[in-house]
Amino acid sequence: MNKLTVKDIAVSGKKVLVRVDFNVPLDGSGRITDDSRITASLPTIRTILDGGGRAILCSHLGRPKGRVVPEMSLRPVAEHLADLLGAPVKFAADCIGEEAEQKANALADGQCLLLENLRFHNEETDNDPDFAGKLASLADLYVNDAFGTAHRAHASTEGVTKHFDRSVAGFLIEKEIEYLGRALANPARPFTAILGGAKISGKIDVINNLFEKVDNILIGGGMAFTFFKAMGMEIGTSLLEEDKIELAREILDKAKSHSVKFLLPVDCVIAAELDEDADLKIVGINDIPADMKGLDIGPDTLKLFSGILADSKTIVWNGPMGVFEYAQFSLGTVAMAGQMALATDNGAVSIIGGGDSAAAAIKAGVKDRITHISTGGGASLEFLEGKSLPGIAALTDAIIEV
Ligand code: AMP
Repeated sequence: MNKLTVKDIAVSGKKVLVRVDFNVPLDGSGRITDDSRITASLPTIRTILDGGGRAILCSHLGRPKGRVVPEMSLRPVAEHLADLLGAPVKFAADCIGEEAEQKANALADGQCLLLENLRFHNEETDNDPDFAGKLASLADLYVNDAFGTAHRAHASTEGVTKHFDRSVAGFLIEKEIEYLGRALANPARPFTAILGGAKISGKIDVINNLFEKVDNILIGGGMAFTFFKAMGMEIGTSLLEEDKIELAREILDKAKSHSVKFLLPVDCVIAAELDEDADLKIVGINDIPADMKGLDIGPDTLKLFSGILADSKTIVWNGPMGVFEYAQFSLGTVAMAGQMALATDNGAVSIIGGGDSAAAAIKAGVKDRITHISTGGGASLEFLEGKSLPGIAALTDAIIEV
């Protein structure tokens, strides 16, 4: 990575502002139901504390939209983090202001402070320079380890860096960029992208960028049906983006002129309605009745896609193959996760771009057999689109020796 990292700075005796992604799910009683985002940031936090640094952690949680929402307080996270670190974690009830300043200044070497939810202030998402300055004034050095918000130019990810001589990446960001970056820049081939999810519009930039890089694109999920419509086929009441039919046609033409294999489902699971108890049928893609909708890929598609994965050496996946939130339409997505794990066992590098596909890998019980599961759905998508992520672009460049 061409950015400085936490390994490049001397933290001993320094106050280090660390932007982490502690946007964890909480149940109604403030219990953390999945702490993987916290555990993912532990290597960076431990490195700072073990190096005699004074860590001042900041994060958002949920979407409080500039108001103090007690259910979105980071206080339970401070308690949980203390358990994970086996050391106390201090907490400041506001991320800027007198209490935060006092608590930051009172830290001893190797101690840790967590600031309250950044998004209790609208100035955070507005990237307000004054707010960024106040946040930065708490510390001597800045580390960004929040890949999940790296695609946003917020005060704590972008504005704040203007106030530090050195702004560096944490280990989590370093790892994300290493895997995603290597896959795009220098992939082992054949390189296959699996794209699913609801809409073409959400994935069009990824499709266009990947056309230039991959050998195979496998399409599943709701967006497949707009392609079928563009091919003049009957799609029943399946999800359709009427205004994207032309775009779908252009992509299909582009696929013909590139040497990329662009594969759509050959069969699907259909039902009259999206319902837990709906009667299901598996039909060939040309046989969708006018009053039914496609809600998952079928077994023949799975076989076709699995064959491509088995021959692939790099696989990137973003987006479910069906309405995986419903058990009976989740089989295609869960099975794809399994096939991806199998390909990984056989030597492929596999990368899941966060969000729904990451949830599917967990559901399939194959999380540990995937090379890399991104912690940032939106950020990894923008990376795959070939866009520069503002939170990473703002970090200090490493000087590359020639
Ligand atoms: P995205 O955010 O674009 O990746 O889309 C994810 C959503 O796509 C999930 O909530 C799925 O339920 C939905 N989805 C996947 N396949 C289908 C389908 N065949 N019909 C309708 N929605 C789908």
